[in-house]
Amino acid sequence: MKRPSLPSEIIIEITGRCRQVCTYCTGPRIPDVPFKDIKATLDEAAGLGVKAVRITGGEPTLHPDFRPILSYAKARKLAIILNTSADNISPAAMKTIIATVDVAHVSLQGYDEKANTAYTGSKVSFLDKMKNIFLLKAYLPVLWTATVITSDSERSLTPFIPLIKKINPAAWLLQRPISDSVEALKEMNPLFFRKLALEIMKIRRDRINAFVSNPTPLCVAGDLQIGKKVFLGARLDEGHLRLVRSARGFFKPNYFLETNLGRSIREAWEHPFLKELSGTGYLPELCRRCPVLDTCRGGSRSMALRAHGTPLAADPLFDPAMARKALSKASVSS
Ligand code: SF4
Repeated sequence: MKRPSLPSEIIIEITGRCRQVCTYCTGPRIPDVPFKDIKATLDEAAGLGVKAVRITGGEPTLHPDFRPILSYAKARKLAIILNTSADNISPAAMKTIIATVDVAHVSLQGYDEKANTAYTGSKVSFLDKMKNIFLLKAYLPVLWTATVITSDSERSLTPFIPLIKKINPAAWLLQRPISDSVEALKEMNPLFFRKLALEIMKIRRDRINAFVSNPTPLCVAGDLQIGKKVFLGARLDEGHLRLVRSARGFFKPNYFLETNLGRSIREAWEHPFLKELSGTGYLPELCRRCPVLDTCRGGSRSMALRAHGTPLAADPLFDPAMARKALSKASVSS
């Protein structure tokens, strides 16, 4: 699989601190990254010609230099994506966000106060969060909302729909949890994702642009055409198109793969591990002849690591019987 000469996006974890305690969050609660280190990454990204940076955490608005960081990235002419819970944004921070950010990616784990608190443990008023979301929606070019999939999502996305319609985000990203919980693995099995894919197809008829993000095998839908519509695949993630600067100070392939690729973008992008990930030798034979391999890349390396002890293994959701069926259906219809 081909790799571009440069990453399209650098994700910078500027702090590990967060007010929330979300069920599937594995983010380490580590302190703020010094501004000088963040500047060095922004300088390198701009110097190399990388187009976009994503400022994330933890909760990035908690970093004491949050506003100067955004202004510095803007001055370096980088497009800025901001990941935030939008729980508690001061008027000054909101002003800077509006002046600098191109895309806000806002986590939305509940459709009302009770549901939001149940998942996040947030002590902030849901109404305040909503006010912030509508301000971001009104003033920024693009707003995405993101909701972590839970074991009842395939039945319980419905209560979110009126709120999602009101917010009208450019995309509603339903995030596959990257978790090593045995319970989660058991509950969120291929059948669960197959039903979820059908549920998402229904939601889309309501003109809601919903996708499953975090890599997931497309064939889990039982039909590659549906899989392509519902799952974003691994192509955009896991070191294929973007890199993450960990709050620990090194670059890594994505949020959930803590492989240390080095201390600079250039060094990380040339790292042999990323070249290995771009190969297909470690994937099941069915994947290697799959028509959607380029998008899917065999699912999640992060989940392969959690299930098999190595990222260079099959995604635990990969089901050979389901994959065979989906591939033969695709070859009949093509
Ligand atoms: S067969 Fe492999 S590459 Fe194809 S959709 Fe399934 S997991 Fe992805």
